[in-house]
Amino acid sequence: MEYTEIMVRYGELSTKGKNRQTFIQRLAQNVRQALQDFPAVKIHGNRDRMHLLLNGSDSTEICRRLTEIFGIQNFSPVIKVEKDLDVIKKTALTMLGEVYHPGLTFKINTNRSDHDFVLDTNELNLFLGNATVDAFPAIVAQMRKPEVTLRVEIRREGAYLSYLTVNGAGGLPVGTSGRGMLMLSGGIDSPVAGFLAMKRGVEIEAVHFASPPYTSPQALQKAQDLTAKLAPYVGSIQFIEVPFTEIQEEIKAHVPQGYLMTITRRFMLRVTDRLREVRKGLVIINGESLGQVASQTLPSMVAINAVTVTPIIRPVVTMDKNEIIEIAQKIDTFELAIQPFEDCCTIFAPPQPKTRPKLEKVLQYEERLAVEELVERAVSGIKISQINRHGLVQKQETVVAESQLFDDLL
Ligand code: ATP
Ligand code: MG
Repeated sequence: MEYTEIMVRYGELSTKGKNRQTFIQRLAQNVRQALQDFPAVKIHGNRDRMHLLLNGSDSTEICRRLTEIFGIQNFSPVIKVEKDLDVIKKTALTMLGEVYHPGLTFKINTNRSDHDFVLDTNELNLFLGNATVDAFPAIVAQMRKPEVTLRVEIRREGAYLSYLTVNGAGGLPVGTSGRGMLMLSGGIDSPVAGFLAMKRGVEIEAVHFASPPYTSPQALQKAQDLTAKLAPYVGSIQFIEVPFTEIQEEIKAHVPQGYLMTITRRFMLRVTDRLREVRKGLVIINGESLGQVASQTLPSMVAINAVTVTPIIRPVVTMDKNEIIEIAQKIDTFELAIQPFEDCCTIFAPPQPKTRPKLEKVLQYEERLAVEELVERAVSGIKISQINRHGLVQKQETVVAESQLFDDLL
């Protein structure tokens, strides 16, 4: 079927009162981003609906992408035809013919804003209903909960027909809640956490700690591939690679086994928080899940969290592993995440990390380290790249100097 436009119904944003305009604009921007390679598509948004005029673009792929955009409740591919009864009838029958099977229940639902049209809504319902029953003898007209509702809208500019309503991803348009830094390892949990944060409108930047040569280029690639899986929900994502080798070596050299994990996590959080500040993020998002591993007990979380007052969003904190896996499968990050490339934590992980680290001890051990300098060096060594659904867009090899980063803050 050659659809001419797609009608998009907003999700929760319809209820957001004054912010509505911002929401609609951001949604339009996100749709535009997602459809960058469809330059012919024109987007028109009004208070209640958004219309994508396809101008000949293929609707199949566009529909698929729309299902990934947060803030859309559902959408319908629509065919616009001239307001000629014969043409309308032919189009209606072609559409129903696509889904027809004997016993199919249907109804025709028309409305018109063009009151000069030759038939009123009742007459048009009857006209198209009769034509349908004539064309498909084993079809059943049913007013309550039919399997298919063929909608016909008669407007000044033409007649609009649709019968499909495709569920959208729900949620809020990414970006409307502000920005957060996603701590993205190569595991199952953190991509899911990023997905869920985006679902509620958070624009994420991915922060990944790499410790070459202890961690392999494949481990880094895996984190980037996971980022590419998250990118369709917003268009593209900034990926920040943090050099973590020096910090890990220092910790390993000066901190007792039992506290390696806690102190490593505290450094990760410090660096992420510094990046958040510079890059104007509001929150940090991670993939911690309560009780999953030693670093994720409540006492551990308390000791790690103590380095910052920045809110940390933990979307999967109360989920069971299988609940997280279910989402990972849905967003297609699971297969990637289980590839066995060691990340920095696997390699430096002590055999028995403390599940109840004591903050006084932590502070005492950290006195052995040049905490500030280490954090600053890591921050000044970051590499930022942009990742879209196909992978890396552009790589910014240049090391961003600390002074440069902080200029950005002023
Ligand atoms: P994931 O949570 O992604 O499955 P994981 O199971 O290995 O990874 P942990 O190692 O316990 O989880 O880490 C807890 C959280 O800390 C991760 O969810 C992630 O947010 C963050 N984190 C861990 N390692 C890294 C890393 N190398 N880079 C960025 N963030 C990390
Ligand atoms: Mg985990």
